[in-house]
Amino acid sequence: MGEQTRIGKTDLYVNRIGLGANAVGGHNLFPHLNDDTGKEVVRTALAHGINFIDTAFIYGPERSEQLIGEVLKETGKRQDTVIATKAAHKFVDGKVEIDNSPAFLIESVHSSLKRLQTDYIDLFYIHFPDKTTPKDEAVGALQQLKAEGKIRAIGVSNFSIEQLTEANAKGQVDVLQSEYNLFRRGVEEAILPYTVERHISFVPYFPLASGLLGGRYTKDSTFEDGRSRNPLFQGEAYIRNLDKVEQLREIANGKQAEVAHVVLAWYLTRPSIDVLIPGAKRPEQVINNLKALDVQLTQEEIEKIDHIFRD
Ligand code: NAP
Repeated sequence: MGEQTRIGKTDLYVNRIGLGANAVGGHNLFPHLNDDTGKEVVRTALAHGINFIDTAFIYGPERSEQLIGEVLKETGKRQDTVIATKAAHKFVDGKVEIDNSPAFLIESVHSSLKRLQTDYIDLFYIHFPDKTTPKDEAVGALQQLKAEGKIRAIGVSNFSIEQLTEANAKGQVDVLQSEYNLFRRGVEEAILPYTVERHISFVPYFPLASGLLGGRYTKDSTFEDGRSRNPLFQGEAYIRNLDKVEQLREIANGKQAEVAHVVLAWYLTRPSIDVLIPGAKRPEQVINNLKALDVQLTQEEIEKIDHIFRD
């Protein structure tokens, strides 16, 4: 078990490898998921010292939070676990809208509390920005929930640098979660420097590029979920991406580690990244990802990995 790390300026302390739980009950995201396997993924995580679980209303919808709530109840580990959840999706006449209004965020926190069977949420994120709500107002609602003890830390997700700056006008944003992995490095330009300067913890999502950086796919792999439309997985680009993954394998082999471990270890060398949330569909993947904590990269290796994925 790794040491506990503080998430930015919050009072939340976690193992640096957490669990991304969109495949726990996320039936709307992945076909053929099984709730029992999802619960076993969470149990396995908790049994192996993972104490940071990332979920959201929209995973299921609702089902991911419900399953996590059931496991926390059954294991009695609520107090030892840092739960992050998110909301912003609203179903209107069967269609999804994004809503950041204070009233909707407050209602969302109360519904998440019920599904998670708890009376506080450690980290609550606005999942996506809407087009109309001023971001300082949206965060103001979360500040109120924090003062009431309903949430312990404030997060935003998928915010642009402008939206983040507006949301953080009074320094109230604790965590930003956005897409970041070796293939997708857009946040490096303005967002990561801002998080460093303002002491906001950055949680990268899709750290394994939806499995592509897991090192197990070949040119013959086929995908039934969102990956079938993801540009990283298409045609020539996919073949080039697999070649980059092979270059990582050389580094991993030299350390008796796997590609996924080297990738996760690399993120942990980046400023403002305190904790990672690799997703897992099977309990073995949860255990496997923890091995990233044993990988030490030299400065030369850190730069080499950076270079492989630069263009
Ligand atoms: P990810 O972490 O990039 O990839 C996870 C996938 O990689 C797994 O489902 C598994 O897929 C494969 N994998 C896991 N461990 C592995 C290992 N040790 N070796 C090889 N392959 C391995 O993608 P993600 O799960 O979609 O994203 C992570 C988390 O980020 C989510 O669970 C969610 O909590 C969060 N997220 C947030 C947002 C947002 O808008 N804020 C958006 C997306 C995701 P296979 O078994 O299919 O190979």
